Amino acid sequence: MNYNDQKNIGNDSLEIIYMNIRRVLIILMLLSGWVKAQQNEETKPNFIIILADDLGYGDLGFTGSTQIKTPHIDALADSGMIFTKAYVSAPVCAPSRAGLITGRNQVNFGYDNNLTTVLPQFNPEYSGLPVSEKTIADRLSELGYINGMIGKWHLGEKEQFYPTNRGFDEFWGYLGGGHNYFPSEYRGAKYDKPIISNYKKPQTLTYLTDDKGDECVAFIKRHKDKTFFLYASFNAPHTPMQAIDEDLKIYAHIKDKKRRTYAAMIHRLDVNVGRIVRELKKQGIYENTVIVFLSDNGGPTKNNGSINAPFNGGKGILLEGGIRVPFVISYPEKLKKGIYNNPITSLDLMPTFIELAGGKINKKDKLDGVNIFPYVNKEIQGLPHQTMMWRFTISAGLRKGSWKLIRLPDRLPLLFNLDNDPSEQDNIAIENSDLVKSMLKELGGWDVSTPHILFLEGARWRRNQLDLYDKEYQLEQP
Ligand code: CA
Repeated sequence: MNYNDQKNIGNDSLEIIYMNIRRVLIILMLLSGWVKAQQNEETKPNFIIILADDLGYGDLGFTGSTQIKTPHIDALADSGMIFTKAYVSAPVCAPSRAGLITGRNQVNFGYDNNLTTVLPQFNPEYSGLPVSEKTIADRLSELGYINGMIGKWHLGEKEQFYPTNRGFDEFWGYLGGGHNYFPSEYRGAKYDKPIISNYKKPQTLTYLTDDKGDECVAFIKRHKDKTFFLYASFNAPHTPMQAIDEDLKIYAHIKDKKRRTYAAMIHRLDVNVGRIVRELKKQGIYENTVIVFLSDNGGPTKNNGSINAPFNGGKGILLEGGIRVPFVISYPEKLKKGIYNNPITSLDLMPTFIELAGGKINKKDKLDGVNIFPYVNKEIQGLPHQTMMWRFTISAGLRKGSWKLIRLPDRLPLLFNLDNDPSEQDNIAIENSDLVKSMLKELGGWDVSTPHILFLEGARWRRNQLDLYDKEYQLEQP
């Protein structure tokens, strides 16, 4: 071996040492990245939206019911943040859900109306949530979440609108706006369609609210080790009015059969909210789960026996009883319990969830909601929303500060000051004509900037909705 060989061997040994050091460094870097990723993963919360359907504002314990007991929903409210001025973006099911799931006022993408039979002048291919819109599930998928949808969809029945094509990995439920609670042979009737699912052969129904509870609990068990979003879309207490005998017995003292059945249906909803919370606690993930409870719109008092007291109006119209809903967020790890009194909207859930999950919202998302956590936690001073707007069939509404204007086709606009008159009893439009003019201008400016409507409801609903403004509503608890 000559000198050069020795030198080469020396160089080779050094090379090997350097290579090993490099390897160790790379492994250390990878490891630290992995640890960081794990930490991020751990701090990402789970999300659950528990949506009630057509629930009367005043029909829960924590919103003042003297008649209906809801201990599990009340416990959730008591351990979380209660939002006393929370709105949905429409007074009926489908457009409200379109807003909720996208974070955009659905009028801004032509979804003004409820989904019903497609009228001949409209293209059925567009009868659903436009595929151009991203859902909460789409956005959370990008952030590594597993997403489940249990229950009522009501955002389109064509294949392109299926939950499983809108960001949800798992679906158990039905595509339309309602369903029978008890099992019945499929006869093709509106509320009698079979349950569908992409992850199991659907079981025979026992009682729909319990079956949804079962699926929610099973979803939590299946995915407890991942970060997940569960959209628990109950249809209680929406019609048909069907309750379990043992639940009806609890409310045997309520004479009116519809109201008694309604109370029993809410009882069963409450039991299943309790089951969801219990399962989260059992799995040790309750503290790190954001649970939102709300209703998709106010109670249709005549149809299901609901009471929206202390608010005037109900489902289908823009008085507070139609759009102001019970609203709770529980997130023990990061949200103190308390009461938040500034106006918020269901449109805020999308940006709130995305930012809590580590994502970013930017202008091109065109969201109408905002992340409400910095406001609630007082990191940002001021109101999340100075202005909110609604448009639904024949009506439009604008809330600005404490003022609320409603525009209808057959009368002068209505104006209320919600601070002094939350029950909207005193129309003070005449005395405030300058304010009415400026609010009409703002509302009209929005109107003409929105796209054409994608589909319409049958013409009869226009008269129905107008009539609902002239009805008297119960403003006090029974
Ligand atoms: Ca509804």
